[in-house]
Amino acid sequence: IFAYRAYMSERRRHTELEFLHEATGALSRSPEIVPELEVLLERTRKAFRVETAELVLFSAEFGPSLRSTLGPGDKKHMLETLDAPVVERLRAFAELRSGVVSLDDIGDGDLRAWWYERGLREGVVVALTGERVVGLLVLAGRVGVERSFSRDELRLVETLAGNVTVALQYDHLEHAVRELTTLRAELEREAFYDSLTGLANRSLFINRVDKALRTRHEAIYVLFIDIDDFKTINDTLGHQAGDEVLHEVAKRLLRCLRDGDTAARLGGDEFAVLLEGGPSEEDAVAVAERTLAEFRNPVYAGEEGVSIQLSIGVAKGIRGKNTADDLLRNADVAMYGAKGRGKNQLRMFEPGMQRAIEQRHRLKRELERAIARREFSVQYQPIIDLQSGSSVAVEALVRWDHPERGSVPPGEFIPFAEETGLIVAIGEIVLEDACRQASLLGNGNGSSEPLGMHVNVSTIELLDPGFLLRLDTLVLGNGLSPSQMTIEITEHVLMFDENQALETLEEARARGYKVAIDDFGTGYSSLAYLRSLPIDTIKIPKAFTDGVGGSTKDDMFARAVIDFGSKLDVTVVAEGVERAEQAAILRSLGCELAQGFFFARPAAASHTRDSLLVPAA
Ligand code: C2E
Ligand code: MG
Ligand code: MG
Repeated sequence: IFAYRAYMSERRRHTELEFLHEATGALSRSPEIVPELEVLLERTRKAFRVETAELVLFSAEFGPSLRSTLGPGDKKHMLETLDAPVVERLRAFAELRSGVVSLDDIGDGDLRAWWYERGLREGVVVALTGERVVGLLVLAGRVGVERSFSRDELRLVETLAGNVTVALQYDHLEHAVRELTTLRAELEREAFYDSLTGLANRSLFINRVDKALRTRHEAIYVLFIDIDDFKTINDTLGHQAGDEVLHEVAKRLLRCLRDGDTAARLGGDEFAVLLEGGPSEEDAVAVAERTLAEFRNPVYAGEEGVSIQLSIGVAKGIRGKNTADDLLRNADVAMYGAKGRGKNQLRMFEPGMQRAIEQRHRLKRELERAIARREFSVQYQPIIDLQSGSSVAVEALVRWDHPERGSVPPGEFIPFAEETGLIVAIGEIVLEDACRQASLLGNGNGSSEPLGMHVNVSTIELLDPGFLLRLDTLVLGNGLSPSQMTIEITEHVLMFDENQALETLEEARARGYKVAIDDFGTGYSSLAYLRSLPIDTIKIPKAFTDGVGGSTKDDMFARAVIDFGSKLDVTVVAEGVERAEQAAILRSLGCELAQGFFFARPAAASHTRDSLLVPAA
């Protein structure tokens, strides 16, 4: 028996020594403190068969005190910063008590509760005391039958604590603190700088503006900068290219600033600049102008040169009067003012602008709600064959049935819906109705041909990858043929030579859909341009139709377009025909189709259906 005991005790000592060696050895092997601590805690947990092992490390002169806990279960908290009041209690406890103490014997009730609350019960705590108190080690939640620790185990805990203390004090605490400091610096970088451009981010910018508003200078200026049509760039060239553009914008922005000014990326395609050191209004405007000029040359995104334009809002902040938030909002408002005036320009903030911006926000919210509730209706206006006087098609024109304002015409919300992307959802509602009505109308005009249906489609919709599939599904689902459908686009679609929108149109045409250019001649396309485009129909805008029969340039233009249409075999529709003589002249000029109040106003589908059989005047 004695021999056996001696053997067992020797064996245990051996395992203990091995454990101590491994546990604390881990602390000095790896240069990274977190995995080391984890190994230490895990080994401790196993060796003492406890659910939870916790190590508290007190800060030396600077830095936070930290807690690392493994358990209960899979819970893991490594190097978590502790609040000052808890640290004070822990320190007081550790400095008073030496040796292993049962958690239940802790005099400080709050401290006891601090452990209990996190599920640390039935355990012991030991202070790590070397030249000074380094921390605390807690073992809690004993697993198995034997709830309390044996004397030998307690001795082992103490030894372990001693070893950990030594290991921590001599090489690692300093290291841990150093690592923590760099970690914190990194976190700070992440918290204050934009990772894509390296510019300040919104929170740092606001911070700087705030500080600048409290310096000795009377006034500061903030520039709010937004890239015009960035969404289109992103959608057509891809996100990678979009990122490159943002990067380049940041670079050029920095070129326009002096030392001491701050450039920031506020998010998305929004940038801001803070001018400090008492600039005058002229200085601020000069910086904004310089920035605009900086973008006269295209930006290279990959191989492609992209022409970038900016809208800039400038706002003045006065010490003791404005807050950083005010200032940023005012500059933002002014920027929207610049957009409203046609983009690619700068505007100074004026107090009256605020109301306009509030209206925009309200409009966006309202429009989103309207989409959710499908508060839209579609009216149909016949398109008339000038020879026979019968309707060959109808054009779908959307209305917003506003609960208070009544029927809102598209001109008042479509541009805004395009800017915000909400047009995609609205377009879907219109398309659904148009296809359903086209199917109901059938050959409602009494001819053998099914009635044509024209729908207005925005560039943004064409850029939506789901557009064609949606169109196909609706058209085929309603038993229609693609050749009945005409997609009306404005010339703005044609601004870029090789854009995605154009590809969508070509694909649509390949599937049998027709394409019309709306408001022809008011945008960018020249007559020569038309030859290479996927077009079936051009529509003469009302402004030119109005001039028909007079001796103005508008009349000349209308004639030229009609002539051109017949030569190129493109159908011409004259829009906005309001008087009989206009219709007569257009007919004599060889214009095939016309549309206008003279024939029929846009009306609800049921009304339009009845009027189709009656030949127009
Ligand atoms: P548009 O496609 O050129 O449509 C013709 C506009 O002229 C319609 O205005 C129509 O009501 C109006 N009109 C037709 N005949 C006459 C006339 O004899 N005299 C006068 N004074 N006006 C006439 P509406 O419905 O206000 O639509 C305005 C524009 O809104 C449309 O111009 C189109 O570009 C856009 N739009 C309408 N519905 C939609 C839609 O569902 N989606 C998109 N993206 N745009 C739409
Ligand atoms: Mg149209
Ligand atoms: Mg039109």
